[in-house]
Amino acid sequence: MYILWTNHPYDKSKNGTKQDVPRSVWESAKTYGQAELVTEPRPRYGSTEWMEARQAASRELNPQPRTDPRVEWGIKIGTFNKRPAITASCSNPNCNRNFRYEGPTFKVAGGRKVPLSLDFIVFTHSCGYAFPENVPAQVVEEYRKAYAGGNFLLTPDESKMHAALAQPGDSNKRVDLVAIGYVEKGQLEF
Ligand SMILES: [Zn+2]
Repeated sequence: MYILWTNHPYDKSKNGTKQDVPRSVWESAKTYGQAELVTEPRPRYGSTEWMEARQAASRELNPQPRTDPRVEWGIKIGTFNKRPAITASCSNPNCNRNFRYEGPTFKVAGGRKVPLSLDFIVFTHSCGYAFPENVPAQVVEEYRKAYAGGNFLLTPDESKMHAALAQPGDSNKRVDLVAIGYVEKGQLEF
C-alpha cells in the first residue's frame, strides 16, 4: 500500500513523505489517523524517485552505526585457575566477543628471562569494520605485571620455561627437562 504519512507514530520527520507499506501497517495507520492512502501512481521503476524511496526503505531496515565501533581492552583473572588474560571486545554486539590472550610474557634464552614483544596481539573485527586494533601498551604492561605476580596454573610449555630458568647456569651440568605439566607457578619459583 502506498501511503502518505500525516502523523507518523514515532518519527515526525516522516510526516509529509510517502512510503510503500504492508497492508497491516496501513490499516493500523488508518485506524489511528496517521496516514492517508495515496492514489497517485508509485514512482516509476528505475526513476530517481523510485531510487530514493528504495534507499530510504533500505536505511530504515538496516540502520548503520553512527560512530565507529569501539574496542574495549582489559585484563581478566580466571575465576578458577586464577590465570590472567588480555581480553578485548567490540562495542558492536555482532562482533567478536571471545578475544583473549593468556600466553607467556617472556621466553627463556640462555637461562635468562627475555621479554616477549606482545605486539602480535591484534583485535580483528568480525562486524565488518575494516581496521584491526593493536593491543594498547598500557594493557600489555598491566598484563606483564599480572602474569609475573600471579600464582596460577601453568601449561606444560610454561612449566618447561620455568624449569629451564631454575636450572643451574653451569652448562656442563646437564639437567633433563621434563614436562612438569600443569603445576602451580609458585612451586617452580626459585
Ligand atoms: Zn567490531
